[in-house]
Amino acid sequence: MSETATDRLNQVRDDISAALREHGRGQTDADLVAVSKTFPVEDIRPVLDAGQRIFGENRVQEAMAKWPLLREDYQDIELHLIGPLQSNKSKEAVATFDVIHTIDREKIAKALKSEMDKQDRQLPCFIQVNTGDEPQKAGIAATEVDAFLSFCREDVGLDIIGLMCIPPVDEAPGPHFALLEKIAKRNGLEKLSMGMSSDYETAISFGATHVRVGSAIFGHRDYPA
Ligand SMILES: *Cc1c(COP(=O)(O)O)cnc(C)c1O
Repeated sequence: MSETATDRLNQVRDDISAALREHGRGQTDADLVAVSKTFPVEDIRPVLDAGQRIFGENRVQEAMAKWPLLREDYQDIELHLIGPLQSNKSKEAVATFDVIHTIDREKIAKALKSEMDKQDRQLPCFIQVNTGDEPQKAGIAATEVDAFLSFCREDVGLDIIGLMCIPPVDEAPGPHFALLEKIAKRNGLEKLSMGMSSDYETAISFGATHVRVGSAIFGHRDYPA
C-alpha cells in the first residue's frame, strides 16, 4: 500500500466529520487526538505539516525525547498523556504534557497537583474509568467514580474536565461508551475521551469529545506500546 499517513489522516478526519453529522452533532464537537506512540519524529512531521496539532503519547520518557524538538518547529501543539503514570514521573509529565487522560488513584492526583502548583501549570485532566472491571487494566471502578471525582476536585483541586475509558478488546465497545457517558452526565462532566482506531465512529455516536486514534493514521505499530 502506498497510502501515506497524510492520506490516512484525511480519511480519519472525513470519517469523524461524517459520524458527527450523522449523529446531529456539531463539526467541532469531537477532537482528534493523533496517537503517535512508538513512531519517531520523522513519521510525525508529515502529520503536523497536514495541520494536525493534538497528539497523544502513552510514555513520559518517550514524549520527552520527541516533543521538545517538534515544539520548536510547530506552534500550538497540544500533547495529551494517555498512558498510565507513575507518581515519580509527575514532574516530567506536568512539564511535557498539556492534558492528562489517566488520573485513576489518589496518589497520582495529589502528586500531579503538587507539581502543577510548583510549575504554575494547571493542566486539564480526565479520570480514567475501568468500565470493564478488568483486573489488569488501569482506571477506577465505575462505582467509585463519583466519590473519586469529588476527591480530585474538592480535596485536591484538580481541573477535571471529563472521563476516559478503554473498553475490553473482546467486547462490543458501545455499552462501555454508554456507561462512561452516563457517569459523566450525572456528574456534569462535558468531556469524553473514548474511541480508538477500531471504534472511533461508534464512540462519536455515544458522545465522544476526544477520539484517540493511532494505527489508523500512523500505520501498524511494530512493537507493543
Ligand atoms: C495506543 C492507544 C490508543 C490508540 O490505539 P489505536 O488502536 O492504534 O488507534 C488509544 N488510546 C490509548 C490509551 C492507547 O494506549
